[in-house]
Amino acid sequence: MNSKPILGIDLGTTNSLVGVVDSGFPILLADENGDRSTPSAVVFGEDGKITVGAAALRQRALHPARTITSVKRLIGRRPGEGGWVPPYVLSDLKTTPVEVSAEILKHLKAIAEQALEQGVTQAAITVPAYFNDAQRNATKRAGELAGLEVVRILSEPTAAALAYGLDKLSEHQKIAVYDLGGGTFDISVLEMRDGVFQVLSTAGDTQLGGDDLDRLLAQFVAERLNLPANDIRLIEAAELAKKRLSSDETTRIDIPLAGSLEISRGELDKLARPWIERTRLHCLRALSDAGVKPEQLDEIILVGGSTRMPLVREYVREIFGREPNTSQNPDEAIALGATIQAGILSGSLRQVLLLDVTPLSLGIETFGGLMNIIIPRNTTIPAKAGEMFTNAVANQDSMLIRILQGERELAKDNWELGRIEVPFPAGPKGSARVGVQFSLDADGILHVLARDTATNTDTTLEIRGTAVDVADERVEQMIAESVDFAFEDMNERIWTEAKLKAEELLPAVDAALGQLGDVVSAEEKQTVLNAAALVRSLLESAEHDAKALKAATQLLDDATQSLAVMLIDRAMEESLERRGLV
Ligand code: AMP
Repeated sequence: MNSKPILGIDLGTTNSLVGVVDSGFPILLADENGDRSTPSAVVFGEDGKITVGAAALRQRALHPARTITSVKRLIGRRPGEGGWVPPYVLSDLKTTPVEVSAEILKHLKAIAEQALEQGVTQAAITVPAYFNDAQRNATKRAGELAGLEVVRILSEPTAAALAYGLDKLSEHQKIAVYDLGGGTFDISVLEMRDGVFQVLSTAGDTQLGGDDLDRLLAQFVAERLNLPANDIRLIEAAELAKKRLSSDETTRIDIPLAGSLEISRGELDKLARPWIERTRLHCLRALSDAGVKPEQLDEIILVGGSTRMPLVREYVREIFGREPNTSQNPDEAIALGATIQAGILSGSLRQVLLLDVTPLSLGIETFGGLMNIIIPRNTTIPAKAGEMFTNAVANQDSMLIRILQGERELAKDNWELGRIEVPFPAGPKGSARVGVQFSLDADGILHVLARDTATNTDTTLEIRGTAVDVADERVEQMIAESVDFAFEDMNERIWTEAKLKAEELLPAVDAALGQLGDVVSAEEKQTVLNAAALVRSLLESAEHDAKALKAATQLLDDATQSLAVMLIDRAMEESLERRGLV
């Protein structure tokens, strides 16, 4: 356990959850009854006693006027502004939404401290994406009142995306988060940019949720059993039946002393259809605000207990034209994401790769100490690429391959990740054929395969982690240096390339002149000799004038071209002479 845990908190309208990263894993914490979800309900008893959670809900029937639920709807609003009316907060309770939220947070903090057997002072708390500054600040103040330093306020869809592991998506991937809870509906379109999620658009209805359906079902039952529809017991029984119908085809609602009724999923669906239909327009609006077509979305994730309903999933599938991702527990996803964020902030969760791309280029050292890039930086992984190499000198019988990472032109300025020695049969210069293949798997492990194609002998090397998992500061430094030294680096590369070419040309020129000495005109010979002399002097000069060397080498190359032509003509002539054809 990290010495200073930070809590991840989903402060929800209906339910709230708390979690922490323990031994590298995000876990949600349960209260003494084993419940991980705490109803966001608070009772202010006449005796001054404050009760929170399931116990508060149980007292609701007894003290409806002293019970506050859905306080999240009011947070950050001023009295009189948008819904600041009873029964949410009663003036005679002399309390504010911030104070009520603080009570819920205190309760969650206590659950965590009990479970962790230590004090906790910091938390990351989620808020809806549409919360404005005042609402975010009010949530922060509630945390402080509860004795928690709020180290991060993060938006709910972002937290959900983290829980679904979508932070591993590559840049510009877009996702939609469909969140249908007990009292609110939110739809957000997010885009992964620079390693973090940006909310492109958000829409929804703060008065639409599973509770509405509970009331519709209660009414349906009440009509059949001749009962008052707003009876709290009836609504609670309806909610239970609704939840069971997410997995069962039929269920029975029993109201003690009033009767019982069998309900089928079909009947519930009929009541639910117009209710779910209300989410469609918001979805279309969020898509249009984000400028995204449904087919451009890479994922649709479901959040909120109501998305467990098969009919809701069917609707989502139909609206977005694709299968939603249901791999996470929808009522715990936001809390789990908040916990992951808290774990990253506390350092107890190693920041998983934000992007599944190579942060720096991978390559090998080639002749002259240059960096030869095989997989460029920012390539999405998994990735595979390769190149063919040959021997630089005659009679070489092996090649040392240095695997490098970095953005600098010269091998020596990049980081060496490993090296392998590839043996091959000795032969003239340029006779060996060694294929080098880099394959970077989804876990960031780099597999290097070097194959001598003449003998089909493979040499392999596996480089774990380091290929992709590089500390951000080191990546930034490497890139900054590659920019700072861009000019010098490029100069060195041009110099090295020209030098390699010159070193190849000079002996060839000498040899050609030796063979052709008698046929070449004195003038031609002088031109070639001058060019060769210039190349030699530039090579020897301390000042690496890459441009001049490149130009001189080019000149020498041109001058020797005519020598090469003459050499060929001469060879032809000799051959014809030998055969007596001339
Ligand atoms: P949340 O706000 O995410 O906690 O969601 C709470 C809402 O989800 C309530 O309206 C619950 O009745 C509803 N809910 C939870 N579980 C289920 C389920 N299995 N089927 C349908 N609705 C559910």
